[in-house]
Amino acid sequence: VATVGVLALQGAFSEHIQLLRQAAECLRTQNTHHHHLNWTFIEVKTPAELVTCDALILPGGESTAISLVAERSGMLEPLRNFVKVLRKPTWGTCAGLILLAEAANRTKKGGQDLIGGLDVRVNRNHFGRQTESFQANLPLPFLGDSGVDQPFRCVFIRAPVVEKILPHRTGIQTEEACSNDTIVAPSKTPVDELAKEELNADVEVMAKISTRSPALKDNEEHDHPGKEDIIAVRQGNVFGTSFHPELTEDPRIHVWWLEEVVKAVEKRQQFELADRSK
Ligand code: GLN
Repeated sequence: VATVGVLALQGAFSEHIQLLRQAAECLRTQNTHHHHLNWTFIEVKTPAELVTCDALILPGGESTAISLVAERSGMLEPLRNFVKVLRKPTWGTCAGLILLAEAANRTKKGGQDLIGGLDVRVNRNHFGRQTESFQANLPLPFLGDSGVDQPFRCVFIRAPVVEKILPHRTGIQTEEACSNDTIVAPSKTPVDELAKEELNADVEVMAKISTRSPALKDNEEHDHPGKEDIIAVRQGNVFGTSFHPELTEDPRIHVWWLEEVVKAVEKRQQFELADRSK
């Protein structure tokens, strides 16, 4: 049995649970080696619920609100512990991606406390006013052939993009932390060897979109040809997307991610067995 939690403080959490159920059903019918796995999907609001989870999704919504509620309900440190010390599989969509970034820009309204985990800097509300919300059919090669042949309908709502991949943790202290317009997540050190491995993984760019520059005025149509923004990244146990797969009926990314969760859970079981027999 594996338990997957969805942080349910604010935002599109019930949509994620819905799609996770659909994805688990796909895995069951696909007859892969983990079709026997039983999944439990739960809403997570408290530290006690979080400790029962093998993996976690941070939904889209309003990152400032999610972070505030997390702080008030004593969830911020347990979340940092889950992502950065225990290094369990965690996926953030939109606002969730912002919270999982090690650095983010301040907006006019200010900033919020980040959880961190991904060595990237995100730019919030990247697509400006005219394109606040839009959809784009994009190929997602990490989904395999199906991701290339059948583009995924990506829903962007005041979405962030990854504007910079940062050097591992040490680089953030010096460069990003000194600038006034940047919020930086507090650092945490994993304790066991497996978690340290995850920490040392590089940031992989999983998907990009070619976009108009946010610097353009609303009435300017032209984009810089060939300019691309990063909209999905993975680093070890942490995965983030700018868009909202939970607002579609397409479970392919959820299926892919649950398969990643299975691999991580099995790896940890083996690690703990080996550790015990030492
Ligand atoms: N712009 C929002 C934020 O900064 C994210 C929007 C979303 O999750 N759809 O939190």
